[in-house]
Amino acid sequence: MKSLPYFSRGEVIRGFGRGSKELGIPTANFSDAVVDTLPGDIGTGIYYGWACVGNGEVYKMVMSIGWNPYYKNTKKSMETHVIHTFKEDFYGEILSCVMVGYIRPERSYSSLEALIEAINNDIEEAKMKLELPEHLKLRDDNFFTSAPSPPLDLPPTSASTSQTIMNGH
Ligand code: ADP
Ligand code: MG
Repeated sequence: MKSLPYFSRGEVIRGFGRGSKELGIPTANFSDAVVDTLPGDIGTGIYYGWACVGNGEVYKMVMSIGWNPYYKNTKKSMETHVIHTFKEDFYGEILSCVMVGYIRPERSYSSLEALIEAINNDIEEAKMKLELPEHLKLRDDNFFTSAPSPPLDLPPTSASTSQTIMNGH
């Protein structure tokens, strides 16, 4: 996938209320502005990478890219599970992510248990793969240290590599 690593940043919005949190795996949904700029070669499926909320710490994450039922499956959704236990929800905050690799395509499961097991396997795979030096490097990318506070549409103050990549799409 030529677009990886892919940098994205935007507001966390309310999702479709599919109860991810009840499964113990909450997913922070990106606003349309972020989803609309996703390159065409980033297909649906499960990805892994790094994420940070606001100016906080950078954590490992898994992201699901799927077809959004709200738009009658004509538009993608991007849902990030940050591998960290947060004290509070962070709706309305700015989430910064870099997707570094692909885990698997989307599929449907015969039971809730099977789905939860699959997600937990994804999380384990993400944790392991992100320890590779080439991936660890991206955790320290200045994309994360340059996280802006809203409003978002301020021009970047310095032309970092990641900003160039992000703006290149
Ligand atoms: P929604 O349908 O609104 O996306 P979820 O059940 O998927 O609801 O919960 C997502 C929300 O949970 C996020 O928007 C965020 O505010 C909160 N949250 C708490 N911990 C996490 C986490 N580790 N990863 C992602 N979101 C989290
Ligand atoms: Mg969600």
